[in-house]
Amino acid sequence: MTPELAYQHLCEHYRETAYLREAQKLWFWDQRTMLAPKGQAHRALQVAALAKMIHARDTDPRVGEWLAQVEGSDLVADPRGAAAVNVREWRRRYEQSVRIPPELAHALAQAAAEGQTAWEQARARNDWPAFRPFLERIVSLKREQAAALGYDTEPYDALLDLYEPGERAAALAPLFEELEAALRGLLPRVNPDFRGGDGLLRGSFPRERQEVLVREAAAAIGYDFAAGRLDPTAHPFSINLGQGDVRITTRYDETCLGTALFATLHEAGHALYSQGLPPEHWGTPRGEAVSLGIHESQSRLWENLVGRSREFWRFFLPRVQAVFPELSGVPLEAVYKAVNQVRPSLIRVEADEVTYNLHIIFRFHLERELINGGLAVGDLPEAWNEAVRRSLDLTVPDDAQGVLQDVHWSGGHLGYFPTYTLGNLYAAQFFAAACREVGGLSEAVARGEFLPLLRWLRQKIHALGSTLWPRELVREVTGKDLSPGPFIAYLEEKFAG
Ligand code: ZN
Repeated sequence: MTPELAYQHLCEHYRETAYLREAQKLWFWDQRTMLAPKGQAHRALQVAALAKMIHARDTDPRVGEWLAQVEGSDLVADPRGAAAVNVREWRRRYEQSVRIPPELAHALAQAAAEGQTAWEQARARNDWPAFRPFLERIVSLKREQAAALGYDTEPYDALLDLYEPGERAAALAPLFEELEAALRGLLPRVNPDFRGGDGLLRGSFPRERQEVLVREAAAAIGYDFAAGRLDPTAHPFSINLGQGDVRITTRYDETCLGTALFATLHEAGHALYSQGLPPEHWGTPRGEAVSLGIHESQSRLWENLVGRSREFWRFFLPRVQAVFPELSGVPLEAVYKAVNQVRPSLIRVEADEVTYNLHIIFRFHLERELINGGLAVGDLPEAWNEAVRRSLDLTVPDDAQGVLQDVHWSGGHLGYFPTYTLGNLYAAQFFAAACREVGGLSEAVARGEFLPLLRWLRQKIHALGSTLWPRELVREVTGKDLSPGPFIAYLEEKFAG
C-alpha cells in the first residue's frame, strides 16, 4: 500500500469516527438540556453502545498498519503540514487507546458512572464516608491506567497528558509556585474598592430579560447564532457538534445579574474557538482544538480579560440599562467594581480572579500525590482542609463545602484541574500580545467592536487547530515561553491598592 493510500484510509476512518463522536455529543447535549427524566436510563444504554463502537474503531489494528505506512514517508516530511500533524496526533491517540486493556477501559467507565452517582448523593448529604470507597476504586484504576499508558518520571504525567499534550507535573510545579507566591502577596494589598460587595448586581432580574441581555453579549463578541444556539442548563458548557453547529448553554439566577452573563461570555469564548477552527480540516486533528488549557484560555479571555474590563462595561452598561431601566443612573465605576469583587471563598466555582488559581494549585498537589502514591484517599479530607487553611486562610466547615464540592474526581478526571490555571496563564499571555499587536484594541472594545481581537485570535490560534502543542503555540504566538508573569502583571495592575 502506498503512503498516500494509507493516509486516505486514515482520513476516512477518523472522519467517520468523528460523525459518531458528534452523535454521542448531541446525545449528551440533549441529556443536559432537554431529555425527559424517564428517558435518562435508556439514554445511558444508548451512550454505552455508541462508546463501544467508537472504542472498537479507535483500537482497530488497521489504524496501526496505516500509520506505519505513512510514518517516515515524504507525506509527513513537513512537520507543520496537515498530514504530519494528523499522523502525529493519530499515533498518540492510537497508542493511548491500545495500551488500555479492554477490561480496564470497561472498569474505568463503570467506576466513573457509579462514582458520579455516589458523589451527587454524598455531596447532598455531606457524607464523605459514603463516597470514600468509590473514590478509592477510581484512584486505584487511574493508577493502573497511568501504568498502562506509561510515563517518564511520574505516573501523574500519563493522566495530565490526556488533557494537555506534552505537559508535565514537574514543569508545572515551578510556574504554580511562582503564581501562588504572587497571589498570596497580592491578596492583602487588594484595593478596598474591590471588597465593597456586589450588592449592585443583586435584586430581581427576570430570566426572560436576562436572556435578551446575554444573547446580545454573545452576539456582540462574535458568537454566530446561525451556527449554534443558547439554552439553559444546570452546569453550563459549550459543545462542538460539527460544522455550523457549536452550541452554548448558560445558567440563570434571577437574584443575580452576573451569573448568566459571565457564564455566557465564558461558554461563548469556548465556542468562538470551535467556530474558528479551519473547516477544510474538519474531522482530523489539524482541524481540532489542541488542548483543554488552550480551550480554557479562550473562554477566560472573553469572560475576564474582556468581560470584566472597564472598557467592556463602557460599551455594555448602557445595554444593561436599556434592558433593566432600574439600573439607570448607576455609575460605570460602581458596576466595574461590583463585577470584580475579590473575596477568598470555600467554593472554587464562586472564586474571583485573584483567588481562583489558589483553589486549582492545591487541587493539583493533592491529585498528584493521590496518583503518585504519597497520599491515601482516607487522608484526603484532612489534607484538603489543611490546604484551604494554608492557601486561603479559611476553615472548611463541612466536606460538602470542602473535598466533596467538585465533580471531576468522581468522574475519573484526575489530571484535569491544572488546565484551568493553564487557561488563565495562556489567556493573559495571549491577551498581552494582542494588545501589543492590535492597534487601538481597548478603544475598540469600549465601542463594542470586538472583531479586531477575534480576527487576531482566529489567525494566531484558532486557525492552527492542533498544529502546535500548547507550550509551542504560546512561544510562537507571543515570542516567549509560558510564564505566570503576564497574568500576575494583569492582576497587579487591576487590583493592587
Ligand atoms: Zn471553561
